[in-house]
Amino acid sequence: MNSQALEIVKGYQGKPIRIMEVCGTHTHEIFRLGIRQILPPSIHLISGPGCPVCVTPIDYIDQAIELAEVHHCTICTFGDLIRVPGTHSSLQKARSKGAKIEMVFSPLEAEAYAKAHPEEKVVFLAVGFETTTPLACMAVRNAQVDGLKNFSLLVANKTMDQAYLALKDSADVFLYPGHVATITGCQIYEDLKKQGISGVVAGFTASELIMALAVIIKRYEKGEPFFVNCYPRVVSQEGSKSGRELIASVMEPVDSQWRGLGVIPQSGLRLKNAYAAFDAQKKYALQPGLGKANPLCRCGDILKGECTPEQCPVYGKGCTPEHPIGACMVSNEGACSAYYKYAIK
Ligand code: SF4
Repeated sequence: MNSQALEIVKGYQGKPIRIMEVCGTHTHEIFRLGIRQILPPSIHLISGPGCPVCVTPIDYIDQAIELAEVHHCTICTFGDLIRVPGTHSSLQKARSKGAKIEMVFSPLEAEAYAKAHPEEKVVFLAVGFETTTPLACMAVRNAQVDGLKNFSLLVANKTMDQAYLALKDSADVFLYPGHVATITGCQIYEDLKKQGISGVVAGFTASELIMALAVIIKRYEKGEPFFVNCYPRVVSQEGSKSGRELIASVMEPVDSQWRGLGVIPQSGLRLKNAYAAFDAQKKYALQPGLGKANPLCRCGDILKGECTPEQCPVYGKGCTPEHPIGACMVSNEGACSAYYKYAIK
């Protein structure tokens, strides 16, 4: 650990700084490493919308349940989504009533499952940001090459750059996600700086996080918008050109609904027309719903940085990881699960 950086962070007494951790992994690591406990009162950490499961709207969960129960599709999904409550049910409840829900660790695994089970109609739940989207695109490409007719994606992939603009008044500085930046590179953050938005890309170790916070303090004191790549051992200026090209060849930008944030223009992705046969939305003529979250749940406000989990009236009482009411308590990257896991009760 760089002791000078640690002293800068611990000793900061300047004007208050609101720092939004955009990445759910940052939120959990900051808790796990005990970094919150050493911060002075003038540094406020806010958990933002960087958990893909948390920002996926409730309508999407309702549609996934419809695919499983009404269209009798086999749903392939990452584990977290199974327990996220929809308006009236969840994939977990649908499974207990006989729906076929398969947990996978990669979209490629879902494509391989569809190939091995031609008698089943397989739908992969594609959620995630720039880091995971290339693999979803690769699965679609593979399915086309394999001539699969029984494989499709329910797409809710999102991109982060427009979200920063939507959240610019919620924070003074963003702690940009290191994983996403490996794909995007640094140009999008340079462009945000030109629009007055400050941030640093940070890694995930204690040393990297403390260094990132020290850099934020030093640059914030100067009073000018800034961007610094504090994770250069992994994030390059240009990012992954091949990853971005793969996404651009299979998907295209679209306005997208975020839980709590509403519709953010051009912040989502959908399959291009050339891949319409793999679009579950079109294949099963899914209609936009009017999904409703539990009225007690404040996930939306938490994702905007407008409240903290312990300000939710059911946090730790009606809502726990065993019995989650909202997505932020389900996901391994959710703010409520981080607060709960690290015992802020
Ligand atoms: S504690 Fe539960 S109900 Fe409250 S905001 Fe978090 S997920 Fe929603």
